Order: sequence, then C-alpha cells, then structure tokens
Amino acid sequence: MKLATRTTKIQPSPTLAITNKAKTMKAQGIDVVGFGAGEPDFDTPDHIKAVAKKALDDGYTKYTPVPGSPELKAAIIAKLKRDNGLEYAPANIIVSLGAKHSIFNVAQAAWEEGDEIIIPAPYWVSYPDIVLLAGATPVIIEAKQENGFKVTPAQLDAAITPKTKCFILNSPSNPSGAAYTKDELKALAEVIVRRDITVLSDEIYEKLIYDGFEFASIAQFGEEIKKRTILVNGLSKAYSMTGWRIGYVAADKGLVEAMNNIQSQSTSNPVSFCDKASVEALNGPQEFMIEWVAEFDRRRRYITDRLNAMPGVKCLLPQGAFYVFPNFSGVYGKSTPSGKILTNSTELSAYLLDEHNVAAVPGVAFGDDACQRLSYAMSMKAIEKGIDRIEAAVKSLK
Ligand SMILES: *Cc1c(COP(=O)(O)O)cnc(C)c1O
Repeated sequence: MKLATRTTKIQPSPTLAITNKAKTMKAQGIDVVGFGAGEPDFDTPDHIKAVAKKALDDGYTKYTPVPGSPELKAAIIAKLKRDNGLEYAPANIIVSLGAKHSIFNVAQAAWEEGDEIIIPAPYWVSYPDIVLLAGATPVIIEAKQENGFKVTPAQLDAAITPKTKCFILNSPSNPSGAAYTKDELKALAEVIVRRDITVLSDEIYEKLIYDGFEFASIAQFGEEIKKRTILVNGLSKAYSMTGWRIGYVAADKGLVEAMNNIQSQSTSNPVSFCDKASVEALNGPQEFMIEWVAEFDRRRRYITDRLNAMPGVKCLLPQGAFYVFPNFSGVYGKSTPSGKILTNSTELSAYLLDEHNVAAVPGVAFGDDACQRLSYAMSMKAIEKGIDRIEAAVKSLK
C-alpha cells in the first residue's frame, strides 16, 4: 500500500528495537542480560494501584475531560508550586497519554514547515522524529563528553537563526544522565529570552537525582523565561508508572488550548482510572522514592566504576536518571576474536549481543556514535553479570 510521505522520515524507536531483540533471544532460551530498559524496575506503589482499582469498582470507566480531570490538574498545579515554586492556572495545564504524547502534541500545535528546533546530542531518541512528523527541522548541537554532556550558552546562541522556534532541554538527560546546575540553567535562560525563542523543558527525571544535586526547572528564573517555557513532566519515571500513560504540559494558555483541540480530535481524555490514580500519586506519600533513589545510586556507582576500569572505556558519573553513557571509542579499530574490526556503536552493540549475550543500545541512536547507553534499572545481580560479560567482550578485543 502507498503510505504518506511523512512515514518515510521516521524510524521505530531503536531502544524498543534492541529490547525486543533481547526479548526474542530470551524467548529462545538464551540467557541474555538486557541493559536496554527505559523504565524503572520497581513496581508501581500499592497505594496508587489501590485508587485505580477502586475507581474501576466505582464505575469511573467513562469519558472524562479531554485535558485531564479538574482534580488531576489541581494536583499538578500543587506539585509545580510545591516542588518548583511555579504558579500556573488550570488553563495552563494539559494532561496527555504519557510525556511522549505531550511532546508530540506540543510539536503538532506549535511547530511546522520552516521551523528549526534545536536539540542537543546526545538526545532522547524520540525528539528528532517528533519534530520531523510536525514538518519542522531538527538542528542538532553537540553536548560533548568533556563538557559533561551539556551544551554551553555560546553553543545555543550560535545555533539560533531567524527560523529557530524552540530549544529542547532535557535535564536530567536520557541517555547521558547529565543534569544542568541552577547557574547553567540561568545562563541558558538568558540566551533564550534575549534571542526570543521558546524552550521545551523535559523534566521527566526530576525526582531521580543523586549526591544531593538540586533540581531546578528553567522556568524558575523569572517571568520572561517562564512565559517562553513549555514544561513537560509525567508520572512514568518518578512513580514507576510507565504503562499508565500519564504526562502533562504546563505552558502558555494559547498553546495549551491548541493542544486541547488536537487531543479532542485524536485520543480524547487520558485513561479515566489512570487519571484518578495519578491524583493519588501526586498528592499521596512520596517517601518510597528515597529508597528507590538510594538503590539507583548504589547501582550507578558500581556500573560507572566497573566501566571505567575497562581498557578503552570512559564513563562519566551521571547526576540523574538511570542510565550511563560510556564512551567506547577507545576500542574502535580493534578486532573481535572472529576477526571483525569494530568501527562504530552499532557494530559494537551487535558484537556484545551476538557474541556475549548482553544488550546495550548503540549511541548512534542518541546522536553520539562513540557511546553505548546502558540502563541500570535492573537488579544488582543482573548488572554484575552483564558488566562481567562486557568486560570479557572488551578484553577479548585485539
Ligand atoms: C521516558 C521518557 C519520556 C516519556 O515518558 P512517558 O512514558 O511517555 O511519560 C520523555 N522524555 C524522556 C527523556 C524519557 O526518557
């Protein structure tokens, strides 16, 4: 069948592709260690599930308001005030079916042919494709490992043209785990305001930060930057609710209204009982996260230390999220025992999976061919086993 041209511009998410390949190998009885996971390995807390079950029993199973229930919007507004010191009205908030859907709706509502959207690499895999589906052009700038995988204000300034509509900021970052300090955010905000562009701030990993790092939203640094900020957040990562599909945007009223129209003609409301349970997630106890973060922190240190001990591998200690993004370019040019010379992240990933039964996502998918992304959202035991295999794989290169 002849398809629309827009489908030819995009590819399926490579992170899902590698996870699926590892799953297929597992199903064949092969003992694969998968570092591909893009979701926390903890279960959704019981108090949140209980509210969803009760909502179902109470018959809360019909259409609900398209932009999210008034109760959920109120819980989001209270969260943004409590955690981020930001004031929003209900007309500034729209709930969608996951933060990915939020970003997709932003793109459909705000960007079009001729618009340039600046994206720092390494980037979350979906940003460029979401931009392309809106007909706009992704402009990639390089956040170098030696700069902690963060872009500088000068880099941003230099990339802005009269066509620039928006800068996509993701702190803490997937895939690098890099997080911008308050001073760094302030400096980026200065450029955004002076050049009069907007910023899409993806804050989905806000709660997963380590070493007492203080999270800040770029919207916090004054009214001028706040009105140019499209704040995106969601429940998937902080509450381990990836399957519930709840994300939200806080932004300019006009943008939210346009997104509401798009949503009303596409998905309609976020799932009724997930909406209900999300009110509990945001308003209920948050203490469980302390334990989750402590566990992630333990794994983060272990995996970083082990990677840095391998010849030719260089890994920064991430400040947030649950990924490490080690640079393996030191092994490029070497040969596998079967005589294959490794020259890029795709070949290295294939070597690791095919010959050592360990799945990592090639960095090229995130715009950085020197690296691999390894998730540590898995048990310490599995991490140890997988890292042993990577070490053996690297050491057997000649
Ligand atoms: C996981 C993730 C999202 C999307 O999460 P949803 O499950 O759609 O809410 C958005 N941005 C980044 C950087 C992510 O890693």
